[in-house]
Amino acid sequence: MNREELLKIKEEALKEHIPIIMDDTLNVIEETLKDKKVDNLLEIGTAVGYSAICFSEFLSENGKIDTIERDTERVNEAKINIKRAEVEGKINILEGDAVEILPTLNNKYDVIFIDAAKGKYTFFLNEALRLIKPNGIIFADNILYKGYVMSDYNKHKQRTAVRNLREYIKEITENPKLETEILEAGDGLAISKIK
Ligand code: SAH
Ligand code: MG
Repeated sequence: MNREELLKIKEEALKEHIPIIMDDTLNVIEETLKDKKVDNLLEIGTAVGYSAICFSEFLSENGKIDTIERDTERVNEAKINIKRAEVEGKINILEGDAVEILPTLNNKYDVIFIDAAKGKYTFFLNEALRLIKPNGIIFADNILYKGYVMSDYNKHKQRTAVRNLREYIKEITENPKLETEILEAGDGLAISKIK
């Protein structure tokens, strides 16, 4: 991995207001995966490839990442960035809407990172539960959505997203097969370990 390029990619993404993973969120994920063998990781929401490039460091020797993105321009930028960071071969971009792509997948994953349309998180969770390996871990980023999710104010325009994120938290908390933690890191991170 070319760290100098990674830093440039990060700066460019921030300048373009692309909502890339925050440093503290990344640190928590790194810490959580430190003793885990990650052969297959699935990401929902590639954007310009920043988080996928970071996650490539957490993979086992022959580990691979599949990452889904529906915005063609971002897919193209991600492909360029993956080459710049010298991690091509580790990251495979699946271009299209995750709502359509996920049901076609049959691979099993050690880790799934949900970081796309907030109104679809419960759909993504059901697919993630189907695709996760025993002892796998499902992360969901932006789960507290700027504090909206835990406040009782629900009259803003992001109502559907907030409702879905609350439902996601309810489902992961009540599912007896999951051991869940909700952290305030970044914009909120849910960590669900499969028991
Ligand atoms: N994981 C990235 C940031 C992702 S931002 C990082 O941390 O570097 C969220 C991305 O999800 C956006 O690029 C958006 O286009 C994409 N997205 C949103 N809903 C989607 C969907 N239903 N299918 C595929 N991609 C989606
Ligand atoms: Mg995010």
